[in-house]
This record gives sequence, C-alpha cells and structure tokens, in this order.
Amino acid sequence: MSEYRAWFSCINEECGETYQLDEIIYRCKKCNNLLEVVHDMEQLRKKSGTEWKELFDGRYRKQVWPHGSSVWGKKEWVCPMVEDENIVSMYEGATNLFWADRFGKNIGMNDIWIKMCGNSHTGSFKDLGMTVLVSVVKQMQSDNKEIPAVACASTGDTSAALAAYCASAGIPAIVFLPRDKVSIAQLVQPISNGALVLSLDTDFDGCMEMVQKVTSEKNIYLANSINSLRIEGQKTISIELCQQFDWEVPDWVIIPGGNLGNVSALGKGFLIMYDLGLIKKLPKIVCAQAENANPLYLSYKKGFEEFHPVKAKKTLANAIQIGNPVSINKAIRTLKQFEGIVEQASEKELADAAAMVDRTGTFNCPHTGVALAVFLKLQKRNMFNPKDKIVVISTAHGLKFVEFKIGYHKSELDEVLPRYANKPIELPNEYNAVVDTIDKNILR
Ligand SMILES: *Cc1c(COP(=O)(O)O)cnc(C)c1O
Ligand SMILES: [Zn+2]
Repeated sequence: MSEYRAWFSCINEECGETYQLDEIIYRCKKCNNLLEVVHDMEQLRKKSGTEWKELFDGRYRKQVWPHGSSVWGKKEWVCPMVEDENIVSMYEGATNLFWADRFGKNIGMNDIWIKMCGNSHTGSFKDLGMTVLVSVVKQMQSDNKEIPAVACASTGDTSAALAAYCASAGIPAIVFLPRDKVSIAQLVQPISNGALVLSLDTDFDGCMEMVQKVTSEKNIYLANSINSLRIEGQKTISIELCQQFDWEVPDWVIIPGGNLGNVSALGKGFLIMYDLGLIKKLPKIVCAQAENANPLYLSYKKGFEEFHPVKAKKTLANAIQIGNPVSINKAIRTLKQFEGIVEQASEKELADAAAMVDRTGTFNCPHTGVALAVFLKLQKRNMFNPKDKIVVISTAHGLKFVEFKIGYHKSELDEVLPRYANKPIELPNEYNAVVDTIDKNILR
C-alpha cells in the first residue's frame, strides 16, 4: 500500500461528503454536485517542492514501468491507490512543447508555445485521463469488484481513448457516438479496437444523457469526464508544461473547451504545484469556445452570474460541439481562480487560424484552431505584453481531421472562404509544364 492517499470529495464546500476512489459514483449522493479527487496534502508536503521536481525529472521519459509515462511519473499526485501491476498505460504525455517561433515572429511575439497533446497514442489529450480511469477499473476488478464493461458518450476522441485502453487491458468498452457528427478517423478507432460502437441518431448531449441513464441502471462504469478520475490524469498537462520550461510558469495558457473537464484539469495541475511549492505564481487561463457551441462564453459575458445550456450548432470543431457541459461549475471556479477569460471563434476564424499556423510547421486540428483564433483575437486587442510567455494547448492531432483540412484547402467548407488555401496543381506529365509552374510559384 502506498503511503499517499486520495479520495473523492463533493465540490460543494458546504457539503464536503467524501467517497473512496474505488466506489462506483460520479455525483455526490447527498447533494448531487460534481465530485473531485482530493489528495492527502499533509503526506505530500513531507517532500519539498525541490524534492518533487527532482523526483519527477528523474522519471521523465525513462523506460521504467510505469514512471516513463508522464502521467504515472507523477503517480503520487494522480492516483496512488492503483498498484503498478494494474496500471494500463501506453506511455502518456511527454508531448512536444513546440516553440512556435516563426508564427510568433510574424505577429511580433517571441515566446509562443504550442503544447502538442495530440501527439499521443490515440491522437488526443484524452489518453491522459483515460489511462487513470481504466487503471482504476482494472484495480477494482483485481479487487473482485464486478464491472462488466466501461462506457462513454463521445464527440470522437474520448471513445477512441476508451476503446484503446480497454482493449489493452482486456476490458469490454461501449461507446455512444452521435451519428455522422464525428470524423472518419475518430469513428474507425473504437471500431478497430473492438469496442461496441453505438451510433445514435442524436447529438453529443443526447448521447451523454443516454449513457448516464444506462450506466446508472446497469453495473457499467461511466468513463466521461464527469468521472473525476480522468481529471487527475489530465491535470498533468500543466505540471508537464512547467517541467518542460524547467519549472517556469507561463504568463498565459489558452485552451479550447467543450465539456469543460480539461480547463478544470489545467487549473488543478497549477494549483497543486503552487500548493506544494514547485511554482511561485499562477498563469492566466483563457478558455476558447466555438461560436456555434458557446454556453460558457455567454455566461462569462454575464460575469458568470447565470448559466444556460444552449443547443450546440454544427461546428468544424466537432469535439467541442457541446451545449450543456457537464463540468460547468468546475470550469467557472477555475476561471475565477486564474483571472480567466472566455472568448469565442467563428467557423471562418478557427479554420483560417489553423491553416495560418500550419504554414509555420504544425498540423492543427480544428479545436486547436479555436484556441489559436482566440489567441490572435486577444493579441489584436493588445491583451498581451510582447514579452509574455504564452502556451496554446493543442488538444488533438490534425491527422484525425483530414476532412476538415482537405475541405479547407479545396474551399469546400460551409461558412468559410479560406484565406490560406493551398490547392494542389494538376499538370500533364510534361517537363516544361512542371518547370514553368515552379518558376511561376517559387523562383519568380
Ligand atoms: C475533448 C476535446 C476537447 C474539449 O475538452 P473538454 O474537457 O470537453 O472541454 C477539445 N479538443 C479536443 C480535440 C477534444 O477531444
Ligand atoms: Zn455533496
């Protein structure tokens, strides 16, 4: 048994009810609020900030099970109750923190970074949380708890991660997808990994309702980010990016938000580092939403005094096409703690921003496009000091969204007249035609 301990606690401070991490529970039984994982901070405080840094740095990117994974390299802070032999890991995290120097210089800034969370096993940051959740399921099974399957509703990436981790552990997975609203690459991932793929004639919010109903009546374990075990893995994004800066804290972090688990996770990672003395300041956090699915933005505009779910409209950023985000309360709390800003991006803005930055060497997914477009908007508004260190969280790999990329360059997307389209030039197989074209385009 680890000397470190963690448990679920109700986020409603007046309630404060706690539950064990291996209990099958997603909301507080007393007041129905969201739960969060709380760690035994007294125990964690027995190491100094410097000792924690040395421990994490010593494990980073090594091949020693399970600590080479950048999630499990921080196991004491993430989920100490899982025995190493029950960890289901595919070497999460340790993703490139890309210095976007050409992009930055184009707009007069020098310290712009893109955290490439999509360079991972299933191509999105969802792997960071899913490794924790599926490992806890495996631990529960090895403790003789009856869990016949794990299920999630998904806008595409959660189901890919769940299916892969469950396949790796030999646990049945059920995924609920909104029909025709996920990309082909997203759809084929759970199919390939042998999940039961249920393609429902509804949107994400409809799938979410269905999976909650099914999992509350059967003994099936729910893997959506309402399950706060996932947040513990995802919070390593902020820990890892400080680690990559030699424990320097950026001034701003910009992150796209849909169901709003990830923005809460980002904040939680910074807070635990601050609390345990690894860092001395906190960044400002910007949550970026698609204009077509912007309930948090609308609430922000009213000072977070009220929140109303919306009917999410179709957006190219399909993974954040969510009108009724489960983690709304956590997200608002986080944004209040981090001088948060919420801004939105239109379809055209997100597509152009993704394509513009692609020209400097990245290959951005549409959600990263939302974050980049919001960055550009705030930059035009002079919100940043030119010297600011700014991190944009890239949430998925662009290769999962080739329909979006091709559609853009072929000028075939609704609502988008592309500014940076780069069409392939079709030529006869003739030398002169080839060199003429090169002359015209490059050598002129
Ligand atoms: C899930 C996801 C998001 C949104 O994260 P939330 O926690 O739902 O806010 C953004 N981008 C991509 C690519 C995703 O898969
Ligand atoms: Zn409660």
